[in-house]
Amino acid sequence: MKTIISKIDINNMDKEELKKQAKLLNEGKTVIFPTETVYGLGANALDEDAVKKIYEAKGRPSDNPLIVHIYEKNEIYDLAKDISEKAETVMNKFWPGPITIILNKKEIIPYKTSGGLNTVAIRIPSHPIARKIIKYAGVPIAAPSANISGRPSPTKADHVYEEMNGRVNGIVLGGDSNFGLESTVLDMTSEVPMILRPGSITKEDLEEVIGEVTIDPSLEKKEDNKKARAPGMKYTHYSPDADVYIVSGAIENVANKINELVSVNLEKGLKTGVMCLEKNKHKYKGEVVSLGNNLDEVGRNLFDILREMDKKNVDIVYSEEFPSQGIGRAIMNRLLKSAGYKIIHT
Ligand code: AMP
Ligand code: MG
Repeated sequence: MKTIISKIDINNMDKEELKKQAKLLNEGKTVIFPTETVYGLGANALDEDAVKKIYEAKGRPSDNPLIVHIYEKNEIYDLAKDISEKAETVMNKFWPGPITIILNKKEIIPYKTSGGLNTVAIRIPSHPIARKIIKYAGVPIAAPSANISGRPSPTKADHVYEEMNGRVNGIVLGGDSNFGLESTVLDMTSEVPMILRPGSITKEDLEEVIGEVTIDPSLEKKEDNKKARAPGMKYTHYSPDADVYIVSGAIENVANKINELVSVNLEKGLKTGVMCLEKNKHKYKGEVVSLGNNLDEVGRNLFDILREMDKKNVDIVYSEEFPSQGIGRAIMNRLLKSAGYKIIHT
């Protein structure tokens, strides 16, 4: 497939170029574009044939529902029903932004988009390019992360170009994602809302405005999320080619353990990558890559660095563990999945 590529400068957006890509979406074709979370692979959410192309391009299992991206809040009343006051509060407070809410769907949403469910996931992105594309397309856009299913989500233009050129009708290259982790997914169909996927809008942020929020209990276990309520959370995810392990414990023990393992691996002829906070970089041997100075930076860089590990051709990656609260909860969720839940305790 010939992919039409548009390079867009976020500070000086070429409207004609964006309109060209939006027209593809309006015609039932697939277009990748940047959002503030990760790059999304979009198609008309109301057109089953268009949505089918998303699943094909990603190799995504068809029971894994898509997030519908809209331009303005009032569009939601055409797509979803039984919208509670708490849902209104969340939308008013956090949209446009990196939170997706699950509501009962109206008939207009095809089951292909909702993965066969009677609910629908909806979000308004804040990224200026995403906003323009959705506005010009004039239809709600289903847009999962623009990676081949199972791979780390793309957070930079290079990632999508390398992985998806030739698999979709259009790609809008528009710099790096601001957050680098997918949106928080919040189920608002029950009295007490439940986080189905942690993201950069945290449980703590939500509780400040709507009171009690629970977290899907299967996500809190450091093991396989087979019982997760968001269908997508059941699948293997975010996997680089290398085998990833999380090393847990006091920092000096972690450093000793990782360095010991790096030496053992070297004797076996295996190349080892290490992912850590910038301040700990000097403690390690091997191909050491900093994930950043703080948790916000770790969130932004994680998927990029998992991809970088593949480029370095490492066989095994060890990562430091991060505290499971605030944004750390989303980071650990992604890291555990990329590690296939393998933790080395020191
Ligand atoms: P992605 O589009 O790749 O960012 O993934 C979207 C996530 O939202 C997946 O984990 C989906 O399973 C989840 N999701 C989407 N729609 C629903 C829904 N109606 N109910 C529960 N989870 C959903
Ligand atoms: Mg995804």
